[in-house]
Amino acid sequence: MPDGAGLGELLSAAGRIVLFTGAGISTESGIPDFRSPGGLWSRYRPIEFGEFMASEEARREAWRRKFAMDEVLLKAEPNRGHRACEKLIRSGRATCVVTQNIDGLHQASGIPEDKVIELHGNGTYAKCLVCETRYELPPIRKAFLADATLPTCKFCGGTVKTATISFGQAMPPEAMRWAERETLAADLFLAIGSSLVVYPAAGFPVLAKRNGARLAILNREPTELDAYADLVVNAEIGNALGDAVGVN
Ligand code: NAD
Repeated sequence: MPDGAGLGELLSAAGRIVLFTGAGISTESGIPDFRSPGGLWSRYRPIEFGEFMASEEARREAWRRKFAMDEVLLKAEPNRGHRACEKLIRSGRATCVVTQNIDGLHQASGIPEDKVIELHGNGTYAKCLVCETRYELPPIRKAFLADATLPTCKFCGGTVKTATISFGQAMPPEAMRWAERETLAADLFLAIGSSLVVYPAAGFPVLAKRNGARLAILNREPTELDAYADLVVNAEIGNALGDAVGVN
């Protein structure tokens, strides 16, 4: 049942909020989510990390898809849901956003880097998988589009990949520890626009609830964890969260 008023009350009553976001918060910015039908992401079987490392052709396919998706990603701007999160952080009511998204839109909405925990990395730049040197995308794109050149690290020769976490790739240990600390310190955990099926990320709402926090879920559809939640709001994120927090 939609219960936007209940969401506002729960947010007001909380002392320390963790915001946990999935692809659903960015659909109103024009970025398709993973599981809704018809999205760019749902048309392809994901390339697992092992395949990426083992095969040049898989790496070429990964970069082809990446640059096709960038047509959408690079144009996207934060929406009302991102602005509501930013207001909750700025006011100090929420301590951080734990996000599964790789689009950088929380940072673009004005949330400082040190309040955004990216569990699945960031697709707006690339990194050497060996020495972790950061690489910007435009030169990689230019070389790839010219003659399908695959990027390698100019310092150590390692494979360069977008700074995202693929299926089969190890989770970033520091982000995981940080998200765990924040989850255990929260008294309200709000899951926004995630189907809550991708683990280990979806373990955080469960951890929060087991630790005694309240759990609220905002999603237009039922999720896997609705039965655990103190409040489930089935509504569009921008409207529901924007109204609850008071942003346009
Ligand atoms: P998901 O696609 O599994 O789930 C998105 C959920 O949001 C769905 O349950 C859908 O019903 C809901 N939703 C979509 N738009 C909504 C709206 N406007 N209002 C209310 N609910 C809405 O996404 P997930 O749980 O984040 O898992 C997908 C994985 O794919 C993540 O690991 C993420 O890294 C990646 N991904 C990221 C992006 C991005 O960065 N924007 C986009 C697609 C996928």
